[in-house]
This record gives sequence, structure tokens and C-alpha cells, in this order.
Amino acid sequence: MPTLDDLLKAIKASGKQPGSRIPVIGNLRRNRQTVDLDMVKLAFEYAQEAHRGQTRKSGGPYIEHCLATAITLAQMGMDQETIIAGLLHDVPEDTAFSLVDIEKNFGSEVATLVAGITKLGKIKYRGIERYSENLRKMFISMAQDIRTIVIKMADRLHNLETLQYLPAKKQRRIAEESLEIYAPIADRLGMGQIKGEIEDQSFPYVNPEAFEWMQREILPKVELKKEYIERVIKVLAKELADKKLKVVSISGRPKRIYSLYHKLLKAPYDRDVSKIYDLVAARVIVPSVADCYHVLGIVHQLWKPLRGRVKDFISQPKPNGYRSLHTTVFGPEGKIVEIQIRTPQMHAQAEYGIAAHWYYKEAGDRANWRRIGDRGHTLPKKLKWIEDLVSWQKEISDSQLYLTSLTLDAFGNRIFVFTPKGDVIDLPEAATPVDFAYHVHTFIGDHCAGARINNQLVSLDTALKSGDVCEIITDKNRKGPSRDWLRFAKTTAAKAKIRANAPRR
Ligand code: MN
Repeated sequence: MPTLDDLLKAIKASGKQPGSRIPVIGNLRRNRQTVDLDMVKLAFEYAQEAHRGQTRKSGGPYIEHCLATAITLAQMGMDQETIIAGLLHDVPEDTAFSLVDIEKNFGSEVATLVAGITKLGKIKYRGIERYSENLRKMFISMAQDIRTIVIKMADRLHNLETLQYLPAKKQRRIAEESLEIYAPIADRLGMGQIKGEIEDQSFPYVNPEAFEWMQREILPKVELKKEYIERVIKVLAKELADKKLKVVSISGRPKRIYSLYHKLLKAPYDRDVSKIYDLVAARVIVPSVADCYHVLGIVHQLWKPLRGRVKDFISQPKPNGYRSLHTTVFGPEGKIVEIQIRTPQMHAQAEYGIAAHWYYKEAGDRANWRRIGDRGHTLPKKLKWIEDLVSWQKEISDSQLYLTSLTLDAFGNRIFVFTPKGDVIDLPEAATPVDFAYHVHTFIGDHCAGARINNQLVSLDTALKSGDVCEIITDKNRKGPSRDWLRFAKTTAAKAKIRANAPRR
């Protein structure tokens, strides 16, 4: 069971090295912001007093849960206010102590965070009809202060870790909700570590047969591949040392069980694990971006790459911010192996996502943050999509339409399409030039008469692909959009504007 001492240790550790949830990062320039340990102790004593006499279903004292949540936050390198709010997150909901009292003792910032979590409430998963409502709640609190969601994720993770003490029906409900709501949001925020843990913890409760099958049939094969990767790493480490390349770390990364299961179900894998090249990948962490490309060159001299399998997520990051180089090569003994190359900073972004922003937040990087709302909360500029979602929700009155398409927009795979000037537009998969046009400007959408993709004239229902350059041809005399476009428009915003602006027949 976690103790106050564990929390203090986690905070101190996060001051000089990243938390144990990401063990491989070297000495980075860290957020030097300090945490007042006496204040954390006070918050602990306050929470302990408030929850006195309450127990968890495990039989242990309730404070265990508060501590576990705060420890996760400390390991992620979150700031003092977030760690304290983690300790106090269940106080207003479950005890006689009020939010006003929390504000008096710990200040308005902590109180606002705790209020945000309390407002989010105990989301109860009641199937698809409440699904969108829960999502909306999450998005709104995210836009107010993104730290609320980070605390909620830490809270959920501990609830999942102690799920065995709950009755079977509740176990399943909480696990389903975690897979359908929490994991996708964690993914969209780039929190790979949290997303992975939430999925793997939920998996056995949601699909026990599949979990059992994975344990029995697949994991032994992962073990075999691990042994092979060890040999790959030895050869590669020696080669990099010979070439005098400084390496922060080099290790094997087994794919997580839930995401592996999902990949196995998809074509072309069809449950054949031998077709999955990244079952266990070799991961190389080097100090700089230039080093990453240097390592890639060395790897390709050593082993022949598979055609079309080099992925440069450094020059073209994924929509959630993920950056890394991936390549698949014919390794020792001619076996196929994936190698991932990144810097420590890219690694922190991949594991912590949004939380990495606190990790690295320094006085100078204010330019990358935007002030939103009247309380002066800040959000990294990259996360403008959260604000967009919230403002669309206010804009679009047909709430049923909004709710069903929100989920598609937010979690479908995203593609990047370029304007002729080189601006990047982030769209859902299979979006069309009409979606693109409305994304650029309502006027352009309303007056869209044709489109060119990569200089070729195409019909308006053509599906766009990542990397396409899209140019919209407008006709100023056009009376407005055509209702027929609803057949193929993909985004909520485009559909709503077509409905609103199409001339009546
Ligand atoms: Mn809780």
C-alpha cells in the first residue's frame, strides 16, 4: 500500500530524473519549478483527516487511493498544485469538508482543479446513450484546465488497479468505460503510457477469453522475439559505439498486450503473429534530432530496410504529437525487425503527451501556450482542437447530430492535408475537398465549385489522403452549398454548415 513517504520520494525523484513510469530518459533539462514538500504533507494530513474512517472496497483506508493518484501525478512530473489536487480530489464529493475550505487552506488554483474533477463527477457508463454526454463533460473540463483530465486519468488508473475488489458487474462497466472513453482521450492527448496501462488493465475484465488466449498463445512468442531483440541490440550497440555515437539508451520494447490483440484481429494479420514486425521493437534514444537521422543511416548500412517501411514521424508528427523515426529491416539471420529512433524529449512526449508539457515547461516557452477563458488558464497551442470541439458544441444546435459525429471527429484516425501555401490541415480519415474547404473558411466551403488534389482536377467526393495538397476552386456567383454534399462530407462542421447554408429547393 502506498505511503506519504512514497509520494515524497516520487516528487524528489522527479526533480532530477523522470518518474519510474518512463525509466529510460537521461539527464534532460528539466522543469526547475520546485514542489513545496511541507505543503504536500499538509495536503496529505488534510485528506487523511477528511477521509478518516472511510475504507476502499479492498478493505484498506481510503487515503490509499488519494496517495496512489498523487504518486502517479508526481511520477509524471506534474506541478505542485496538480499533486495536491490529486490528494484532495475526492474530498468535496465524499466528505464533510467543502471546496470553500479547500480554497482557504490551499488557494484558489488547487480549489479550481478539485472543483473541475468534482464537476466531472462520478461518470457512470450506461451504454452508448450516455457515452457522448460523458465525452462532452470531459472535453469541457479539458478546455477549462487540461490538468483536470490528467488528474482524472491518474484517478482512473488506480481504480482499475484495484478493480479486483469490486463485484463482477461493476468491474465490467468500469473497464468498458475506460476502454471507450478514457483510453481514446489519453491517446488523443499523446499520453501513450497512461493509455497503454488503462487498456491493459481493462482488457481481462472486458474480454476474458481473448485475454486468456493472448496469455496462452501469443505471449510465449513475444518472449522468443525478446531474446532475438537482445541479439539485435548487442550488434547495434557495438556498431554505434564503433562509430562514436553517443547513445542515451537502447532497449527492447514489447508491444502492449491490448494493442497487440487489436492489431492481430485486423487484416492482413488475421491472428498470425509472425506478420507483426513490431511485436518487440528495438528502441534507440539519442541526444539530438541530427543523431536520430545519423542512427537511421547506420542501421540501413548494417541491415537492408524493407521497402516503404521507413516512417519519419519527426518531419511529420502524428496528430497527437508523436515524433520518432521507425524503420523495418532484415536483421541478423535475415529476420524482420522494427527499429525506433528518437530523442529523450520525443520519448517523454510519446509516453506522457500533454503531461510532458509540465515536465519541460520553462519560463521561455510561454509562446507555445495560449491563455483561454477569463480565469487565465493556459493550454498548449497544439491542443486547439479541444477548444474547437467545445466551440462547435456551442455552435451546433442539433445536439443529436453533434453527439454522434463528435465521437467520429475526435477519435477517428486523422490525416494531414496541405493548402497550396503549405499550411497543414488536420482532418478525419476519408475527409473530402468539401470538408477541407469548410475547414479553411465558411465562404470557401459555401462557394466551392471544384477541387484539385496534387494538381489533378477531382470530384468533390474524392477521399483525401495524408500528404495531399488540396486546392479549392471557388465560384463567387454560387448560391451556396449543395445538399448532395451531405452524402460524403465527413466533419461535423462541414455537415452543419451545409445544412444551414444550402438554398431551399
Ligand atoms: Mn478518486
